[in-house]
Amino acid sequence: MINATSQKRIFLSSPHMSGNEYKYINEAFETNWVAPLGPNVDLFEKEIAAYVGANEAVAVSSGTAAIHLALSLLSVQKGDKVFCSSLTFIASANPILYQQAEPVFIDSEPETWNMSPQALEKAFMDATKKGKLPKAVIVVNLYGQSAKMDELLSICNNYNVPMIEDAAESLGSSYKGKPSGSFGEFGIFSFNGNKIITTSGGGMLVSNDIEALQKARFLATQARDPAPHYQHSTVGFNYRMSNILAGIGRAQLEVLAERVGTRRLIFERYKNKLGELPGFQFMPELDGTFSNRWLTALTIDEEMAGISVPELLNAMALENIEARPVWKPLHLQPLFKGAQYFTHSNEDVSANLFDSGICLPSGSNMSLDDQMRVIDCIKNCIRC
Ligand SMILES: *Cc1c(COP(=O)(O)O)cnc(C)c1O
Repeated sequence: MINATSQKRIFLSSPHMSGNEYKYINEAFETNWVAPLGPNVDLFEKEIAAYVGANEAVAVSSGTAAIHLALSLLSVQKGDKVFCSSLTFIASANPILYQQAEPVFIDSEPETWNMSPQALEKAFMDATKKGKLPKAVIVVNLYGQSAKMDELLSICNNYNVPMIEDAAESLGSSYKGKPSGSFGEFGIFSFNGNKIITTSGGGMLVSNDIEALQKARFLATQARDPAPHYQHSTVGFNYRMSNILAGIGRAQLEVLAERVGTRRLIFERYKNKLGELPGFQFMPELDGTFSNRWLTALTIDEEMAGISVPELLNAMALENIEARPVWKPLHLQPLFKGAQYFTHSNEDVSANLFDSGICLPSGSNMSLDDQMRVIDCIKNCIRC
């Protein structure tokens, strides 16, 4: 028996450098474009905009900052409501609170695990009845899978409310051939260390509205008025990305397609080896969509499998394997106690996904041996 703690740690999703990052970092040093901003930032913005098919992009310090800017640009303020996917990371909704607005959470539907058009329609009908529509709808593409954009956009357009697409987890994915992040009034990406590509920390705001992005640049650099002295008439933020980090991002973007390919292979291997186990059901990929499979996610029916998600997480932790439950829905978070929530049907889909869902190590730098260790660990658990 191998001592559990002597085994190398397998991470959920760790940074994966290509080697070319040095080239862009060195250029920045050689030209002393260490700060502020600089050519890597300009080019990284152009490259992301071209990749996504958006008119422009603004590089910022995090995905959270990008969402906050989008809400500011849509004049979300105290007393306003913002609809938001419930099954997501906290960062999707925290900026709603920064603006002192009120989040209303929308359930998932089972085919994509993302925002349910049915639940969204219910929320809009309720808002209409109360005479106060939301200022924006934040739609998340979970673990790389695009939400049902046609249906969701059609509802948003009917009520004339703009969509913000939180594509933090879905760079490299597409919906009906169109890149993820290009659907809303604003799209946002994250380059946090665990995402499919990373700048060590960073984010991007994309849009076809060039004027709005001009204002985003202004707000992200302390909202300085065009005056010969330091003059400010609106509150701003310090949200821009550094030229060094943008250099890392440029090299990472060059290998994005490879990273997506690897993550999809990892998903397929898990599914091949574990998909037949009783009660195991892998996250679907909706017809007409292409997921970057950022994280391999699945649900486990405790009765059929004879093991619960917490038990499995525990067994993996003992073997130094980092796995995670699916995001805890925001309507169940103490922070958002009392917030309005609209379910898909009689069933609370996001709560059920949370109860039975698990994310497996999915990093593109994980070796085949590493993945086999994860697979064997799970199989051994099922047998015991
Ligand atoms: C990572 C993430 C964010 C936030 O990105 P940061 O760069 O970490 O601020 C927002 N939304 C979702 C769904 C995420 O997964």
